[in-house]
Amino acid sequence: MNSPHILKVAVNVPLSREFDYRATEGTRLAPVGGRVLVPFGRQRLVGVITEHAVETDVPAAKLRRAIEVLDDEPLLTVEDLWLIRFTSSYYHHPIGEVVAAALPALLRQGRSLHPTLQHLAITDAGESTDIETLARRAPRQAELLETVRDAGGNGIDIESLAELLPNWSRAGKPLLAKGLVTRFEARLAGEPAPAAQPGNPGPDLNADQQLALATIRNRDGFTAYVLDGVTGSGKTEVYLQLLRDVLADAKQALVLVPEIGLTPQLVARLQDRLGVQPTVLHSRLSNVERLRAWRSARSGAAKLIVGTRSAVFTPLPDIGIIVVDEEHDPSLKQQEGLRYSARDLAIARARYRDVPAILGSATPTLESLQHCRTGNHTRIVLPQRAGAARPPAIRLVDLSRVTSSDGLSDTLANAIESHVDAGGQALIFLNRRGYAPTLICAACGHVAECARCDSRMTVHARAGQLRCHHCGAARALDDACTHCGAEMRPLGEGTQRLEDALRSRFPSRRIERIDSDSTQQKGAIDAALALAEQGKADILVGTQMLSKGHYFPQLTLVGIVNADQGLFGTDFRASERLAQSIVQVAGRAGREDRQGEVIIQTAYAANPFWQHLIEGGYAKIAADALTEREQTRWPPFSWLALVRAAAHRKSDAYALLEHARRYVGARQLDALRILGPVDAPLARKAGRYRAQLLLQSTDRKALHNTLSGLRPELENEPTARKVRWSIDVDPIELF
Ligand code: ADP
Ligand code: ZN
Repeated sequence: MNSPHILKVAVNVPLSREFDYRATEGTRLAPVGGRVLVPFGRQRLVGVITEHAVETDVPAAKLRRAIEVLDDEPLLTVEDLWLIRFTSSYYHHPIGEVVAAALPALLRQGRSLHPTLQHLAITDAGESTDIETLARRAPRQAELLETVRDAGGNGIDIESLAELLPNWSRAGKPLLAKGLVTRFEARLAGEPAPAAQPGNPGPDLNADQQLALATIRNRDGFTAYVLDGVTGSGKTEVYLQLLRDVLADAKQALVLVPEIGLTPQLVARLQDRLGVQPTVLHSRLSNVERLRAWRSARSGAAKLIVGTRSAVFTPLPDIGIIVVDEEHDPSLKQQEGLRYSARDLAIARARYRDVPAILGSATPTLESLQHCRTGNHTRIVLPQRAGAARPPAIRLVDLSRVTSSDGLSDTLANAIESHVDAGGQALIFLNRRGYAPTLICAACGHVAECARCDSRMTVHARAGQLRCHHCGAARALDDACTHCGAEMRPLGEGTQRLEDALRSRFPSRRIERIDSDSTQQKGAIDAALALAEQGKADILVGTQMLSKGHYFPQLTLVGIVNADQGLFGTDFRASERLAQSIVQVAGRAGREDRQGEVIIQTAYAANPFWQHLIEGGYAKIAADALTEREQTRWPPFSWLALVRAAAHRKSDAYALLEHARRYVGARQLDALRILGPVDAPLARKAGRYRAQLLLQSTDRKALHNTLSGLRPELENEPTARKVRWSIDVDPIELF
């Protein structure tokens, strides 16, 4: 006896290991998967117990005691811990940080699963107070009183309140003193179990959809299916049937969607057809809402979970299926901190639980298509639009041959006119927000640049500002050139300028701009989209935001104003990405009774890309790109990891990457190519110098073995302290 009782704990610190603690009388029975409070340096941190052990490498004198058990029962199941470990080892990321990403913030902070929270509720005196009168004297108090009143009889917990009104407590004091609100403690109520009703029946599936459904139903257990169906082919109808099967079996279903794809429209459609209120998980939830949703998924009460990428970590004891919609969408990959692909984790998880994974897209990634070729995944094709709708006709406008002003060619303008006159709606797509991408001196050619980034400032004419889209810096528009004093002019087009041009050309038409500037306010995007869906806007102008998940029944024309940025990209994914974004936005055009039209403006009409896209569609571009990638050995014919470094001094960033290069080089692996270090595409961002080292290998195992050693090597490298660095496995933004 007398061997020590050790707890292995994942602590939220950037170090790739678990930490050992001595279990005491009070912490001996702490469950694996539960949280424990532990000393760490001079702090006390919340960790999750991953294992009980009897041995440790830590000398007895240095072994510290766990302080307190926070959960009597495991918060995370064996499966949850497996997924966390898998994520940590595949992405070479510290396990404690993976745990932190998987837990709702309140649990990460050590709050109970059923926390008691301070609440504020309105009193009778508060109810009878005239808020407008109060607002004249004390606007903050009025705002708070209104918020509390709107929360109803049970009041509002102060966590949620703090997110709505960060400085509420100053206004709270006088309201409490006057007895207009009261303060009390209450347990955070559980989510009411989503009541199930019979869903409304949908359309009868067509032959292609039936075949897709039969193929998937036919097989039990895990398979990854790529549902490759053109926009409007009825992929969602296929998901709906599969989800219905799973719910009828009393199992849980997880639907992952891209950030912009999680629309009220989708949620309403799921609810209508399945008769179950979806439990929604996305980044805009308050901490309390997130905890509630997580908790009801974990208990099995929530049957249908719809969420953006981090929802892939949600505990789901009775999982029966995972659907990943728009699997090609880059927002399914987290681009900072823990850089995981929610799609790839979804597949791993489905395999672990032996349930099907459905990856849907009109423009599947080459990675997914290649998995279909090798037989890892099963491809199912829906080649045609469902129902009577026909595919849109695509036409190029050669910008070198037609007149255009403010980026709008006469051809496109005339098409807008005829479509709108005929009662249709037009969507004009430009993936550049702001008024103009550059402010340039008409005399000397000097352009306004960001002081902290290697980039130009974007003109925001409405606000009278120059803004940097990389670091958020903003300043007043220059009146005159800082070099020669001549006049500065906006060069190029952004969505605001395009909106102005459309307004002057079509003064009597209703025009809505939808981009991240126009939709800053809460609810603004839903309101704008609702207008668009109801056909109340004649012309929509917008960015990528408009290209996903929305269905505009009146839309018959899509205009793509400037598609050329993607034609000459240095990234090996440039043509894949360009084709995806064009096909996705083009897919919004057309409806049952009227064929849609797509007009693409380009200054390079002779580029073979266009002919391939118009004649062969995405399939042709994808097939060509796969052949090219096979010849050049880019993914999916090799695997990549990108080591990034950023520092105030350029030499610090390079020194760390040179160290990494030497470490990897010393392993002398034939199958491993080391490229760099080189400057990152935006070599200076927000005052930091950025560089990168690319590792490429045709042998995935060799790459991962190398990374397993590289990570601790860099963690222990003293010069790394001056550098922000990361390892990005399967990076999707390279150059
Ligand atoms: P996708 O998800 O592939 O874009 P949806 O499932 O959203 O396609 O279907 C596009 C439109 O076609 C929707 O309005 C849908 O109701 C309709 N639809 C889908 N399948 C059928 C069908 N079999 N018969 C008639 N209409 C259908
Ligand atoms: Zn900047």
